[in-house]
Amino acid sequence: MGTAKAQRAGNDPAEPATNAPQPKLLSRPAGALSRSDIDEKEMAALIHELVSCGTRLTLSSWADPKRGVGCARDKIAARFEEISKTTGGKLQVVVDKFEATAERTSGKAVPLENVYAILPGTDPVMAKTVFVVSGHFDSRPSDVMDPNADAPGADDDASGTAVSVECARLLGKLAATGKSGFRATILFAAVSGEEQGLLGSGHLADWLKEKGYAVGGMLDDDIVGADSAQGAPHRVRVFSGNGEIEDADSLSRELARAVEEIDGRDAIRMIFRVDRYGRGGDHYPFYKAGLPAVRFTEPLENYDHQHQTPRTENGVEYGDFEKYLNFTFMGNVARDNAEVLRQLAMAPAAPTDVRLTGAVTPDAKLSWKAGDDPERAGFEILWRETTESRWQVFDFVPSAGQTMLKGVSTDNHFFGVRSVGKNGARSIATPSQPEVRPAPGTNKK
Ligand SMILES: [Zn+2]
Repeated sequence: MGTAKAQRAGNDPAEPATNAPQPKLLSRPAGALSRSDIDEKEMAALIHELVSCGTRLTLSSWADPKRGVGCARDKIAARFEEISKTTGGKLQVVVDKFEATAERTSGKAVPLENVYAILPGTDPVMAKTVFVVSGHFDSRPSDVMDPNADAPGADDDASGTAVSVECARLLGKLAATGKSGFRATILFAAVSGEEQGLLGSGHLADWLKEKGYAVGGMLDDDIVGADSAQGAPHRVRVFSGNGEIEDADSLSRELARAVEEIDGRDAIRMIFRVDRYGRGGDHYPFYKAGLPAVRFTEPLENYDHQHQTPRTENGVEYGDFEKYLNFTFMGNVARDNAEVLRQLAMAPAAPTDVRLTGAVTPDAKLSWKAGDDPERAGFEILWRETTESRWQVFDFVPSAGQTMLKGVSTDNHFFGVRSVGKNGARSIATPSQPEVRPAPGTNKK
């Protein structure tokens, strides 16, 4: 019996049987940001300023410079302006005012504001693609409708706001050298209205569409400040939704894979789930629109420190205070976000219309489209076992069109294609859509 088992183990036919491609892969772009580039003191200082606004509930005052959500808007806009000066004005600061109506605004239109810092891309075509990093600067006490109670929101989500602003500082500094190679636009967002129903983020998605941007990727950082479990710092969780197409990945999942590949498995814990159960976040409006969007969140949350009006009950202290933050962890998160933005903004556009054909034949065929791009080296053909989470590179192909995967069945793997720049930067993968072909004996169309 032992022998029979040994003969069966791993005993699948090789695909392809012979002559598997052995592509030479370009190395990823030089100049990766290092952890020591992160200014934890600046991050802490901004969080302290935000907490000092008392509450940042979206329904609190937008006009009072000392207390309320408007106080937070002022601090963030001022910090972005300061950073912009160090970039010679390359970083453009926008305060975006709008109105929204939701259950958590009592069904009434209320004023909201988002703050953006925008680093325009240097490539005329790619500049219409935007990579977004976002945190929400609104906070809440236990009662999400109470504009008066204290709501320090140090972790939720002054931490994510500080990550977004720190990314602006780091990448703005790189852009100021004129050698960043950021072909696409990067937008650093601090949005409001998250706790009232993802209002600021939903508005940001609309705003980008209206301005004619294609969203290349959206990184939502929400509750990324604490890491209190033994053995910290731990990996940050990156949540991504599955999408709604059977037998194909969502673009959000592809973004999650790109994040893990850029930052490493020792930094990123991919969670293949749209969000934590019973919770929502600002990546959701983007995800629902079919755009690539993921959520960064700390490893293990403490619910006594979230959405709680500060108080002590039965010896338990409730409240989202600065003293619970872990800046070693938060700095890691900032570095990991910034490096993802750096590499994706340097990459050529992701391929489109990736189709898999060749069913019921010995060879899989992949076709895809891509615009002309002199900075592109070519495309990586990706595949993986249907039970695997991560891509492997099957082959490298210099131009768009079609390629035959000789001796590879369409049925045993998932397939995708990504663009590779001459600089080594990769786009996120575009998963293949299978040819719609009814199986015999089914009535499927
Ligand atoms: Zn939050």
